[in-house]
Amino acid sequence: MTDIYSLTPAAAEEYFARHGFSAKAVRNIFTDLYRNGAEHFSAFSATCARLRETLEEEFYFESITLADILQNENTVKYLFKLSDGCFIETVLMKQKYGGSVCISTQCGCNMGCAFCSSGRLRKQRNLTAGEMVLQVLYAMRHGGVKITNITVMGIGEPLDNFDNLCGFLDIASHPFGLEIGSKHITVSTCGIVPKIPLLAKRENPCHLAISLHAPDDELRNRLMPINRSYSLSEVIKAAGQYADTAARKVLVEYIMLDGINDSREQAGQLAGLIGNSRLMVNLIPYNSSPDGEFKRSGERAVAEFYDELKKRGISVTKRKEFGGRLNAACGQLRSDAMRK
Ligand code: SF4
Repeated sequence: MTDIYSLTPAAAEEYFARHGFSAKAVRNIFTDLYRNGAEHFSAFSATCARLRETLEEEFYFESITLADILQNENTVKYLFKLSDGCFIETVLMKQKYGGSVCISTQCGCNMGCAFCSSGRLRKQRNLTAGEMVLQVLYAMRHGGVKITNITVMGIGEPLDNFDNLCGFLDIASHPFGLEIGSKHITVSTCGIVPKIPLLAKRENPCHLAISLHAPDDELRNRLMPINRSYSLSEVIKAAGQYADTAARKVLVEYIMLDGINDSREQAGQLAGLIGNSRLMVNLIPYNSSPDGEFKRSGERAVAEFYDELKKRGISVTKRKEFGGRLNAACGQLRSDAMRK
């Protein structure tokens, strides 16, 4: 049996053509699923009876259950329990222009970044494309805002779950599916270099974010073990090539850690690395967890770092905070649930 939410439009066309169904019949399946919001086959109204029977024999509906929720006026943080008992987090940010959903791609993460709550609990498994789709669908149906953007930046390393990520992107960006244009989707990676050109070559590529967090290899080796496999210069080169090949934005994400990576000198080093490439830097305030060893940088350090990058001609922004209890680090709700 196949989860209907993991079915891409292209795979559906191929599968149902083999079973003697028309392209219009496939369109009706997706209309029922994503436009009409049907959650079982008996509620499929656009789809004919013979096709419904085929669907019932070969497909099922995966589900996710809300286990906890934190929210303020512009942010909702969901903790979902999956059908096998694993937990994941999803965040909805409500902006003036619409909602942006940040989804998880794995239960836990094996990348082991020193500052990350998710990395402290090892990966249990990859999420399916359907489980990624369901996170967005939940926010679409319960978030009270039109979803206009998706960021793939939650728990897990998306490029370590590449095939399912691609299935999700196909469904998310397709007019039959979630209908979020690929220019409104950003995938974030800690720097799995060999997968970056594969992502760039996809039809309708999305934007890319690279989690850099250090301006030299010695510090990055300490903060992000992946750097021992793919060095800073390899990551920056792959990021620049992505911007050229995919003609999409590439953001360099830089979490500001007090006394670790936030000096003026380090801003200069970072500017030197970026050079005159088209990469843009996004400075991110750190959300500390109770069991973590790092602290967020002070406002003055962030301002000086920002000014230094600007002075050196680097395009730089500071990420907006969402405030209150929601500042809990990514992965912390999941860690708490697993401890319980
Ligand atoms: S920061 Fe991202 S890649 Fe690193 S451990 Fe956390 S979830 Fe994994």
